[in-house]
Amino acid sequence: MKILVINAGSSSLKCTLFQMPERRALADGVVEKIGEGDAFLSFSAGATEVRQSCEAADHPAALQALVGCLLDEQSGVLTDLNEIAAVGHRVVHGGETSHSALIDEGTLQVIRENSVLAPLHNPPNLAGVEAALHMMPGRPQVAVFDTAFHTSMPPRAYLYAIPYSLYTERHVRAYGFHGTSHRYVTERAADILRTPVDRVNLITLHLGNGCSATAVKNGRSVDTSMGMTPLEGLVMGTRSGDVDPGLFYFLAEWLDMSPADVYDLLNRESGLTGLSGVSNDVREILAAESAGDRRAKIALDLFAYRLRKYIGAYFAVLGRVDGLVFTAGIGENCADLRRRACEGLEGLGVVLDEAKNAAAVGREAVISSDDSATAVLVVPTNEALQIAVETYDVAGGTEPQ
Ligand code: ADP
Repeated sequence: MKILVINAGSSSLKCTLFQMPERRALADGVVEKIGEGDAFLSFSAGATEVRQSCEAADHPAALQALVGCLLDEQSGVLTDLNEIAAVGHRVVHGGETSHSALIDEGTLQVIRENSVLAPLHNPPNLAGVEAALHMMPGRPQVAVFDTAFHTSMPPRAYLYAIPYSLYTERHVRAYGFHGTSHRYVTERAADILRTPVDRVNLITLHLGNGCSATAVKNGRSVDTSMGMTPLEGLVMGTRSGDVDPGLFYFLAEWLDMSPADVYDLLNRESGLTGLSGVSNDVREILAAESAGDRRAKIALDLFAYRLRKYIGAYFAVLGRVDGLVFTAGIGENCADLRRRACEGLEGLGVVLDEAKNAAAVGREAVISSDDSATAVLVVPTNEALQIAVETYDVAGGTEPQ
């Protein structure tokens, strides 16, 4: 059956069409700059490549444009919209919902309620859901939550040491994010290591614009670095990651900033951008470092150091670690930062093979030396495929009318 996966952001809408259960991607496209007057569509299916400006004032118009490409005679992907048997949606925050869910009034309510905790993500995700419901009424639609993989964390990992009533009354707790990616690479890594997924212990490192580390025990998340919001944990492109919470008080006092201003500074002006003053793109910071830029070097050293601290902490959480798994833009492509993150971990049984590490760019690979007690892997993530798999599981067997 054909499953359409939709990932709707604030100004973009991505679609991938899969043939399931074969897991084959048939077409994929994106509309960027929605509502900005110069929206742009990119689409590819087999030999068909489309790149053109398009009319997309809102998410329904963007979806319409992409579906138009799927139905176009030249692309030959679909002859009728009814061939799409189900639609899967990426939804960032599902609160304490532990599974992917068929979209009904209850699921819509979950997405709305959690918008407060993910104001940049859940509202556009919801706009994508509503656009698809409108275009394909009655078709099974499934919400795949980024938080769901982490609902297996025990209270000692997800609670903050603040008054317990804030958890019971206001749902203040760590939720964790990037769960769809951590789940996908967990299953791939178990496969590569020839270990049943329910027996594999991993530290998965999703290093993209946002970065998070997860401790995976017997295939399930038992701790993760992001918290109530995606600001906690590792250093990221523009986000600070862990800071002393007292910073909020002093920055507000000294710089006469509102809580919203401080939050914004930590989210958008910090991390690699704030430290280096160069950019949020690791490639540019590496180039600046090579040219002798001292702040670029400090930024990258700090990034790798924090990563190493989380790896060390998760060794303590897990006891036995079968594999360290690098994924997302930086994790898949940047051998230099992988090497720096693993430096000095020999005592924990992590020994990188320099040549294998350098050669592994954007593809699955084992990059540890043969005598490393813990394997180190590169696994390109595929969140769209994971969403298709979970949509198939929830809506499976429902063939088009
Ligand atoms: P997102 O979180 O937006 O999905 P990605 O997973 O695509 O982001 O990761 C984006 C980041 O990956 C970029 O900011 C860039 O720093 C990094 N990146 C991509 N390719 C490389 C590369 N070849 N070397 C180093 N870093 C890279």
